[in-house]
Parts: sequence; C-alpha cells; structure tokens
Amino acid sequence: MFNSLSDRLTSTFKNLRGKGRLSESDINSTIRDIRLALIDADVATPVVREFTGRVRERALGAEVSQALNPGQQVVKIVNEELVGVLGGQTRELQMAKHPPTVIMLAGLQGSGKTTFAGKLARFLRDKGHFPVLVAADLQRPNAVTQLEVVAERAGVPCFAPEPGNVGGHDAATAEGTQSYGDPVWVARAGVGQAKVRQYDVVIVDTAGRLAVDENLMQQAADIRDAIQPDEVLFVIDAMIGQAAIETALAFQKGVDFTGVVLSKLDGDARGGAALSVASVTGRPIMFSSIGEQTKDIEVFHPDRMASRILD
Ligand code: GDP
Repeated sequence: MFNSLSDRLTSTFKNLRGKGRLSESDINSTIRDIRLALIDADVATPVVREFTGRVRERALGAEVSQALNPGQQVVKIVNEELVGVLGGQTRELQMAKHPPTVIMLAGLQGSGKTTFAGKLARFLRDKGHFPVLVAADLQRPNAVTQLEVVAERAGVPCFAPEPGNVGGHDAATAEGTQSYGDPVWVARAGVGQAKVRQYDVVIVDTAGRLAVDENLMQQAADIRDAIQPDEVLFVIDAMIGQAAIETALAFQKGVDFTGVVLSKLDGDARGGAALSVASVTGRPIMFSSIGEQTKDIEVFHPDRMASRILD
C-alpha cells in the first residue's frame, strides 16, 4: 500500500531538500506534484484540495522563508498535515467503566468485518481481556459458521443464534417467542449472555451488503439502539478507492460510527480510502488489518503512517 504515492512524494521532495531558498514558483510546482500524486492515489478531491491548500499557505509563510533549510521545512509541514489528515493522535478503544465493553462492527459485505472480529478478539485476549463474539449477521447463510471458525482460531467463544454451538457453552436457546432469525434479538441476547458469564468485551458482527442498502442500514441502527455499544467500528476495505467517501458517509449517517478500521492495507492498492476517510468523517482510524490471519492487526498510528508514506 502507498508504494507509488510514497515514491512520487519522495522524488518531489528530493528536488527541494537541498535548496537554500525557495521561490513561490518552487512552492507552486511542489504543491502541484503533491496534488497529482494524491489524486493518482485515489484520495478524495475535497481532501486533496484542503490538504494542498493548507500546505501551500504554510509553505509560503514565515516558517519556511526564515528557515535555515526551507526545503526540509516544507517536508516537515507536509508530514504534519498528513498526520492531521490521518486523524492526528492515536485513539485507543474506549473501554466501558462497567464491563462488558460492547463493540459493534459495521461495513459492506466483503470489507473484512468478520475476519477483523477475530483479530480484535485475539488482540484483546492477548491484553488480558475475556472477549466473546456475537454473530448478528444473519443475512448470509454462511456468516454465522464463518464467525464461529474465526472465534475458534482466535481462541474465544462465539454466541451464535443456533442451538448447540456457543464455544462450548449452552446455546442461546430462545427464552421467549423471538426467533433466531432476528439479529437485533441475537445481539441483545449476546450482550446479556456476556454479562451473565462475565466476559468483559462483546464484539458484535453485523450484516453487510455489497452496496449501501437502506434495510440493512436500518437493521444496523436498530442493533446499535438495542445494545448501546461503547464503540461502533466501521470496517472499510482500503482498496475501495473513490467509493470510500460515499460509503463512509452513508455508514456515518446510518450508524454514526465512533472509529474506523482500514482493512486489506497489505494490498497494493493506491490507498486513497486510508487518506480520505478520517478527514471526511472526522472519525479516527483506530486499527489496520494487514492480512488474512488472526494476528494481522495493528493499532493505527497516524504519525507512523505519515512517516511510512514520506520516508
Ligand atoms: P465481511 O463480509 O465484511 O465479514 O468480510 P470477511 O471478513 O469475510 O473478508 C472478506 C475477504 O477478505 C476474505 O476472503 C478475507 O480473508 C479477506 N480479508 C479480510 N481482511 C483482510 C486483510 O486485512 N488483508 C487481506 N489480504 N485480506 C483480508
């Protein structure tokens, strides 16, 4: 990810670094190169415009004209602004004062939600928590089984809407008249079970579609209302390109997510989603998913990502 963006920016800055003085035209041509590199990386147009506007304003100001090494100073500005676009500070998971902490996952089908549920469970288990997964994606026939497999790999239990398979515990047998087919009921019952069994983190997987779909968005909103999660994480495939903005805004409107997970960052896509979503939604990127295995999860650090792009 970001290889081509990184190469383009590095070669732009190579021309600048050694310069003793920078003319306005030096700065303008640098900004133009940055703009083109970002557009080619699929970064959303409004983000590109704002970013280059801020860099230009600062680059033409006193901090550069009075710097001992103006070229270096411009690179520093680009770095700082990039950290800003990526969300600024690292944002950690908000854990509930009174467990369990409830984390709901939302996103398009295929975005990597279910895989991420296992990664997050393992990540939290390794930190000494006792997570449980809840399978509230009842849209795809395979989704429940897939989550059970993911849970087993992560070494955590799974609360599933089918009798006889809750990670070694009793099934979520319906104690009322609700059917197993109701994801809101499953999500609520899963959180209830976690409380009874004293798990301290509940990770709820929800259904996605290949495109934003009103019914499913409403279902996700209903689940959110029913379980009152501490975090709603929006999982987005970093390879999605220009569609990132539209998708992220639709999910923000639908479920008002609290954080973003960038998945498939191990791919060689151009990475525009990564560089657009935090800025457009104002929500922090909290994790990156970097492969298909349970261990392939990283806490997202905007400063480290910016350095990786600019180094
Ligand atoms: P869901 O429909 O949102 O639950 O998506 P899945 O978790 O089923 O993932 C869809 C596909 O993407 C699967 O084939 C996963 O193995 C793959 N996948 C998920 N996360 C990653 C990742 O970080 N990197 C790569 N390379 N593949 C991933």
